[in-house]
Amino acid sequence: MQYCSVIVDIAHSQVDKVFEYSCPDQTQVGCRVKVPFGGRVVDGFVMGVSANPSFDASKIKPVRYVYDEQPALVPECFSLMQSIAQRYRVPKAVALRLFLPSEMRLGRVNEVYTKYIKLIDPDISLNKAAKKQAAALEELKNGDREFTSFCEQFGRAAVNAIIEKCGAEVYKVRRSRTPMLGEEEEYIPVELTSAQQSALNYIESSPKTVQLIHGVTGSGKTEIYLSYIAEVLKRGKTAIFLVPEISLTPQMLRQLRRRFKGQAAIMHSGLSAGERFDEWWRLRSGEAKIAIGARSAIFAPLENLGAIIIDEEHDPSYQSETAPRYSTVEVAKLRAEYNGCKLILGSATPSVESYICATEGQYGLVELPQRINKKPMPQIIISDMREEVKRGNNSAFSRALREELRETLSQGNQAIIFLNRRGYAKTVICQDCGYVAKCQNCDVSLTYHSEENCLKCHYCGAKYRMLSACPECGGVHLRYGGTGTQRVVADLKELFPSARILRMDNDTVSGKDGHYKILSAFGRHEADILVGTQMIAKGHDFPSVTLVGILDADMSLHFSDYRSGERTFQLITQVAGRSGRADEKGKVVLQTYSPENYILRYAVNYDYKGFFENEVKIRRATNFPPYSLICRVMVTAEEDRAALAVLKDVYFAIEDLRKADEDEFIFFNKMHSPIKKIQGKVRYQVLMRLKSQKLLPNIYDIAVKYSTAEALAYVEENPQNLS
Ligand code: ADP
Ligand code: ZN
Repeated sequence: MQYCSVIVDIAHSQVDKVFEYSCPDQTQVGCRVKVPFGGRVVDGFVMGVSANPSFDASKIKPVRYVYDEQPALVPECFSLMQSIAQRYRVPKAVALRLFLPSEMRLGRVNEVYTKYIKLIDPDISLNKAAKKQAAALEELKNGDREFTSFCEQFGRAAVNAIIEKCGAEVYKVRRSRTPMLGEEEEYIPVELTSAQQSALNYIESSPKTVQLIHGVTGSGKTEIYLSYIAEVLKRGKTAIFLVPEISLTPQMLRQLRRRFKGQAAIMHSGLSAGERFDEWWRLRSGEAKIAIGARSAIFAPLENLGAIIIDEEHDPSYQSETAPRYSTVEVAKLRAEYNGCKLILGSATPSVESYICATEGQYGLVELPQRINKKPMPQIIISDMREEVKRGNNSAFSRALREELRETLSQGNQAIIFLNRRGYAKTVICQDCGYVAKCQNCDVSLTYHSEENCLKCHYCGAKYRMLSACPECGGVHLRYGGTGTQRVVADLKELFPSARILRMDNDTVSGKDGHYKILSAFGRHEADILVGTQMIAKGHDFPSVTLVGILDADMSLHFSDYRSGERTFQLITQVAGRSGRADEKGKVVLQTYSPENYILRYAVNYDYKGFFENEVKIRRATNFPPYSLICRVMVTAEEDRAALAVLKDVYFAIEDLRKADEDEFIFFNKMHSPIKKIQGKVRYQVLMRLKSQKLLPNIYDIAVKYSTAEALAYVEENPQNLS
């Protein structure tokens, strides 16, 4: 008997302490246990064990059940858990949950096992008359056998006899339901270019923990990451490789499986619960050494990390939007420091924040200004849509784009058309009275979907019947506003009746391998044109794509967000990078209503540094991040009254902070959020711009303190989305 300290798995600040129980001797730190707690039995995590109790042993209750033989949590979890709990003001249990697959916590997965039989004492001999038994015994002397097939071969009776007489033993091995994508293919090593080799040498010899690779699309960053991982494995260490949306990059997965086989474990939401759980255990048990996945894979249960890589580091998905609202780069830095390994960030368009760190010397910096084999970047042609309208062209495509499409198709090449709006039309408007169809649960307009002939809310998923007349004035002149991907496909079919067209957006990729099917069909050239939302902007490598059309390059420019220029630059660069990746030269047609905009100018010239320097000037002059911190306390509730009460408390508490330290505040106000209601919940906010992080802990505390059962208050730092 020994004693253990336990964190109970309850997400409440009042039980955010360590409780003591007695437990069996083999219980280890990191094991999950069942413990009695306040009249119930709850799950918990063992934080520490000791031979002696810290108070009266007669008052200490025993642990009811120990789940794990091998602790589910690696030792590093506890140090990270402390940092995360403190930094983002969440209970320790909430921070610990990040480290376990949710199916494990909720007990929803069936573990599957394969049974084997093994001989304990090989020197035993049997009565020779029992032929089957003797044969079975001989067989086992050669090594363990899978139990079911062994029974089939020798008969159950003989096997039972061996188990009884010779002490043969049946044991279970956890079987994994791992998707073996690409594993059977042969890996053919490539020779690194001198630019790739010097990048690796630089990273290896640099004393700085964080390394930023700024390399244009197609400059061979992926090969650098993989070579680095291969090196790390050779040294007996492990690695984490993060990509923004792994289900969108089946090519990347194939490549990884081909190269690293079973050593690569993939953590992504497209897997079944069982598969996810099995991949997690393969990492925990040490069978797999590389964790590949989206944001949450930063919590992979690996020990002895030798590298963390974050590809497309500028991507907004690296910021968690549920509690704890952690920054993946921040957590990755903690893990890299704990393990004494490098954190490699890579992008063709690094975030302004990261590039400042690199230019100021906090990060190492590798520049790859050229594509592999010095292929030129695709030429970007701007189509001024104001001119098109003036000339009577009201279609979704400029004359230049139509011409280029015709040319591309006639040469047997492929094209990608990008429009970041799904559905047929963004809004339905009554031309008589101006009525716009809106969602009942959300303060947003409804999108018309032609395939189902219905109106959909893109925030809560609600569906409504399509209108035949205006519900306000009865008018029947309804107009569509804002073209979506479905309409683009319909229009393309009219323009190019013989072209084969695929569409990829949230409506077409349902199901486990929805993305994969569309992308691989396009990769096999089973279609000529791929129309899609920003899903198609990510790192795909289709050699026959020689034309990319960007239909509405302005869309993200007009968001009232300090990052809108940066986002637009990133998006154009990423999408344009899909064109002309192989032998043939690529082109890009960029349609815009504001061709003179400076962001577009920089993007067209692939001038990241020009963009960056200009952006830094603006941010510095206007006091925007990273020269300040935007902090928003959101208050959401079912009822206005409850939300407003909490908003008031939060506002006045922060007002007190401000009175004591006025210099810290550049901006401070309370208001409705831009979208006043989402999924039936009203939304208010206290918005601030602060000079530093100094008051953040106080603000987090205020949000925790004034949240009520009816209204939740939570803090967001430099939110990716201010709506
Ligand atoms: P990035 O990640 O920077 O966009 P990739 O790593 O995808 O670039 O490389 C672009 C293309 O160049 C890919 O088709 C890749 O297979 C190829 N490539 C990368 N490194 C080499 C190399 N050393 N030799 C030959 N081809 C390479
Ligand atoms: Zn809605």
